[in-house]
Amino acid sequence: MSAGRVVVVGLGPGAEGLVTPDVAHALAEATDIVGYGPYVARVPTRAGLTLHASDNRVEVERATFAIDLAAVGKNVVIVSSGDPGVFGMASALFEALERRGDAHHLDIHVLPGVSAMFAAAARIGAPLGHDFCAINLSDNLKPWPLVEKRLRLAIEADFAIALYNPRSKARPHQCEQAFAVMRAASSVDRIVMFAKAISTPQETIATAPLSQARGELADMRTLVLIGNSTTRRVGRFIYTPRFAS
Ligand code: SAH
Repeated sequence: MSAGRVVVVGLGPGAEGLVTPDVAHALAEATDIVGYGPYVARVPTRAGLTLHASDNRVEVERATFAIDLAAVGKNVVIVSSGDPGVFGMASALFEALERRGDAHHLDIHVLPGVSAMFAAAARIGAPLGHDFCAINLSDNLKPWPLVEKRLRLAIEADFAIALYNPRSKARPHQCEQAFAVMRAASSVDRIVMFAKAISTPQETIATAPLSQARGELADMRTLVLIGNSTTRRVGRFIYTPRFAS
C-alpha cells in the first residue's frame, strides 16, 4: 500500500470563521482525524471519516498513532487548537518522527492556524504591537524555576507577554505566583488582560493593573496578556505603540 500523509493543523481559537481555507480543505480530504477529544469534536463528521479522540497529555503517543495510520496509507489530520506550532501538536509529531527514525518517507505537512494570542489581541486592540513573547505557564514539561526566570527576564526586557495555560485545577496557584514574580521585577505597573474563550459564545475580556490582578480570574480557557511599560488605552481599546526609546 502506498505511504499516506500526516497533516498537522491548527483549528484556531474556536470560531468557524477563523479556520483557514487550507485547514478546512485538509479536513475535507482526511480519512482519519487524530487529536485531543474536545478538538476532534470540532471536526464535522461525515461518511468515510474516522475520528480518533484521545486524552490530554499523550501527545507523542497520539502522534505515533497518526504515523502508524499514515504508514498503512491513510490520509491523517492531527488537530490542535489555535496554531499547531504554538504549544501544540506539531512539535510532538516531530518528536515522534525522531524517535521512530523510520518514517521520513511519509508526506508530512504543518498548516498554521490563528493562535489564541492573535485572536485575543485583535479583540482587545493591538497589545502585541511591539516586541513580545509567549510563555506557557504549565510546568508539566519544564521546571517551575525556569518559568519564573523567563517571566523575570521578559519583564526586564520590557516585552509584552502572552501567558498560555495560565491556570488549571491541577495548578491553581501558578497564575498568582506568576503575577507576584512579575510585580517584583517590574518598576512600573502594567495592564493585564484576561481573554477567556475568545471567539466562542462564552467569550469574556477583563483587565486589571498588574498591581491588583488576581490569578483566580484565569482558567484553562484563558489567555493572559501583560502589556509592556508603554501599553495604554485609547477609547475602549488597548494598544502597544510601535516604538520604544
Ligand atoms: N496551540 C494553541 C495553544 C494550546 S495551549 C494556540 O495556538 O492557541 C492551550 C491554551 O491556549 C489555553 O490554556 C489558553 O491559555 C489558550 N487558548 C486556547 N484557545 C483559547 C481561546 N479561544 N481563548 C483564550 N485562550 C485560549
